[in-house]
Amino acid sequence: MNLSHYDHVKEMISNKAQLCIVSKGQSIKDIQTYYDLGERIFGENRVDQLIQKATSLPKDIEWHYIGHLQKNKVKQVIPYITCLQSLDSYALANLLQKEASKINKHIDVLLEVHLADEDIHKTGLLPQDVIPLYNQIKDYSHIHIKGIMAMGPNTEDTDRIKEVFIKAKEIFDILHKQDTNISILSMGMSDDYTIALSCGSTMVRIGTYLFMEDTI
Ligand SMILES: *Cc1c(COP(=O)(O)O)cnc(C)c1O
Repeated sequence: MNLSHYDHVKEMISNKAQLCIVSKGQSIKDIQTYYDLGERIFGENRVDQLIQKATSLPKDIEWHYIGHLQKNKVKQVIPYITCLQSLDSYALANLLQKEASKINKHIDVLLEVHLADEDIHKTGLLPQDVIPLYNQIKDYSHIHIKGIMAMGPNTEDTDRIKEVFIKAKEIFDILHKQDTNISILSMGMSDDYTIALSCGSTMVRIGTYLFMEDTI
């Protein structure tokens, strides 16, 4: 836990963006502490951990799934999540729609876009595939597209990071113009969230910085 980092993050985002606290690998007790401070959006990237935490913690937490979701885990995770931030294929969208409608659950999704060519291991849609996927699934009854998720490149080069976030913002603006339900631009993590905010992020996803031990 690091409450001085928390205060700093809250001040930086002020009323510009929402905070998704990335709680992967963190204890129930530490997550509860942030809950008690008023936080309600938490992000996980493992299905088993998400379910374990969701069943132990208050029911009004909005769990966001932020990792690559395997198709064989969709059915299991659907009852617990509010938002899938990492939708990256038509096949996954279809499966989500099918399983969510079976239990009449509505799920928000963000289209994950891959913008940093240098990070070849990263997942996400190619920029040119974002609008076509949006058009294919925008009328689905149980999944609701709320925006875009992007990751900054793994580099110290702030100009390069900025370039990537500006590209994400451009794609976001195109969709937002077409559809006012598109309101979330999820970008910015511990090391680059201030840059992301300056480029128009409306949701930052922060883990490490909020959970690292206070060294003073
Ligand atoms: C782990 C993770 C984060 C948080 O990263 P930190 O550097 O710990 O802040 C954000 N987004 C995704 C998709 C992640 O996997």
